[in-house]
Amino acid sequence: MQPETFVRRSIPMLACFAAACAPVAAPVPSSAPAPAPSPTASATVAPPVVPLPPRAAPVALCGRGMVQPGIDGRLFNHFRYPDTPATALVPAPAALGGSCRVHPAMLGDLERLLAAANGDPAVAGTLRAVSCHRPEALQRQTFCGGIGADGSGSFAERAWASAPPGHSEHATGYVIDFGTSTSRACDAEACFAATPAGRWLRANAARFGFEMSFPAGNRQQVKWEPWHWRWVGTRADTPGAGAARSLFAPARARFPADPGL
Ligand SMILES: [Zn+2]
Repeated sequence: MQPETFVRRSIPMLACFAAACAPVAAPVPSSAPAPAPSPTASATVAPPVVPLPPRAAPVALCGRGMVQPGIDGRLFNHFRYPDTPATALVPAPAALGGSCRVHPAMLGDLERLLAAANGDPAVAGTLRAVSCHRPEALQRQTFCGGIGADGSGSFAERAWASAPPGHSEHATGYVIDFGTSTSRACDAEACFAATPAGRWLRANAARFGFEMSFPAGNRQQVKWEPWHWRWVGTRADTPGAGAARSLFAPARARFPADPGL
């Protein structure tokens, strides 16, 4: 017996009784999509279709054409982040030096962290802010400037130590690169970890809502950055922490900070 003939001429609802006849179901209202035909009557139930997230669009990079982000939206291992406008930021405490601007939600914790550091004779007066908010345009200069004008160097190599524009945690305003006045040669260098300031941050920064985004040996495959700390608040219900944690949720879920919160 031909299943199609049987279904159409006798009892249409039987189309739902067995997988073999499901593809030739009874007539459906014209507004519903037509079922796909089955190549054989013995076809099994199709596995559930898991929709893929929309693929990020290719991005132009350093005037060298278009680059396709990965299926998870990362570009050379870096997540995409929005650029917080400068008008939404506030100056970092003057005692940190420089002209850094940060997200206002983290200012209270940053001031408490600085006060605690200044209360410890081992690091009092030495903590500095080397870099805080970096707008996308500056990040573009930083990243693309590390690519040789003669075409030398690759994006992947550059991204080991610097995020592509549009993919830096610094754009959010929740991040500070710390340094120490006792060892300026260790700004943005691994040796910062061994300075008194670096050791103090590792032991204490989490108490003030800061975590190390790129710990040694991180699976995100970004260079170890013991100077780079992002603020997510000590608790999820800390005012402002929800927004910060939302931005960093993909990174925190897949590549936990260490020390982390
Ligand atoms: Zn940084």
